[in-house]
Amino acid sequence: MFVVDEVVRFTYRLRPGAAAQAALSAEWGRCRWLWNEAVHQQKTGRNPTFCKLSRLLTEARARFAWLREGSQVAQQQTLRTYALALQHSYKVKGRGRPAVKRLRNSLPSLEYTVRGFTIRERRLRLAGGITIPVVWSREMPSEPTSVRVYQDSLGHWYASFVVRRAVEAAPTVDKTIGVDWGVTVTATTSDPAYDLPYLGHRKRCAAELARVQRRMSRRRRPRGNPPSKGYLRAKRQAAELHKKAARQNTHDARQWAKRVVDDHSLIAVEDFTPKFLARSTMARKAADAAIGAARRELIDRGMRAGRKVVLVPPAYTTMTCSQCGTRAKERLGLGVRIFRCGDCGHTACRDRNAARAILATVERDRAGADDVRHVITSLRAGGYARSEPEIPRL
Ligand SMILES: [Zn+2]
Repeated sequence: MFVVDEVVRFTYRLRPGAAAQAALSAEWGRCRWLWNEAVHQQKTGRNPTFCKLSRLLTEARARFAWLREGSQVAQQQTLRTYALALQHSYKVKGRGRPAVKRLRNSLPSLEYTVRGFTIRERRLRLAGGITIPVVWSREMPSEPTSVRVYQDSLGHWYASFVVRRAVEAAPTVDKTIGVDWGVTVTATTSDPAYDLPYLGHRKRCAAELARVQRRMSRRRRPRGNPPSKGYLRAKRQAAELHKKAARQNTHDARQWAKRVVDDHSLIAVEDFTPKFLARSTMARKAADAAIGAARRELIDRGMRAGRKVVLVPPAYTTMTCSQCGTRAKERLGLGVRIFRCGDCGHTACRDRNAARAILATVERDRAGADDVRHVITSLRAGGYARSEPEIPRL
């Protein structure tokens, strides 16, 4: 059995005491200030590379005592993340530049490299003298190389460690699969056995969420006043509902992605931009979230297992015959669920045909045809994570 090394994140719940929480919040305040300064630099036309930002950080730390109180590692990492996000936004078409992080709508997130943290007596110790008890829910496979400490919308703190682990290599297989995303069926694949049906986790709680959101708006105080206890309670309820649905989506997506990745060596995925659907009704937004989770899991898992994952632009996939490759003259309306080829007479379910057409595009490309353009862009959940392999796009 082959064993391969892979880089993964292991995430643990943190239980910071009042002092640690205050220290983390203060640290986040300083890092947020630095991030916003970097955004200001970019907006005023100075292209802030990490090199320039580091120099500015040194100057700022010399000038401001309150900035010196914070950890230099966390501050540098904030600027590094910003610089990478900015670079990434130049590379991807239509991507906005990194935005200002406001106190009211950004959640704390701090990054530390090896010299910024240690684990002693089963506690996480961060630079700046912050000590936090960790819930060690599973054994870490190796010494972590970095950690991200963050708070979620429910106010829970987590530490996400980057570690190496040895895993059994995915079995050698030679099946191929094409994946098309949709609203009624989250993922339609070229092989019906691997379809991911839409399970409606977000839609199921939509009514309850709407009720909680109405409660929030009823209890919202005018601008400039501190929020009431009732408002904060309703806000938390809304966050809990969101979180639950998101967890269910991730869970389903993981199980599905594992099955797809284990059985296929080549995975052709429709390069779907979730924003496309999210502008309309609740049901669509819900489907969108499910698609986002499934897509992320499939790509992540496929890459880690060393499978060939190719992103195919969705243009023309629904109007191309998967049997003979002829492109129809007209677009298929959204109501037309059956694809019928005018050339060879092939008939198939619209989404199934699209999934097969996506797969056919990639296989044609592999056979050596040169009518498909290659755009190589790195792509990840975070968008600009370092040391990530690149996914070929067609
Ligand atoms: Zn045809």
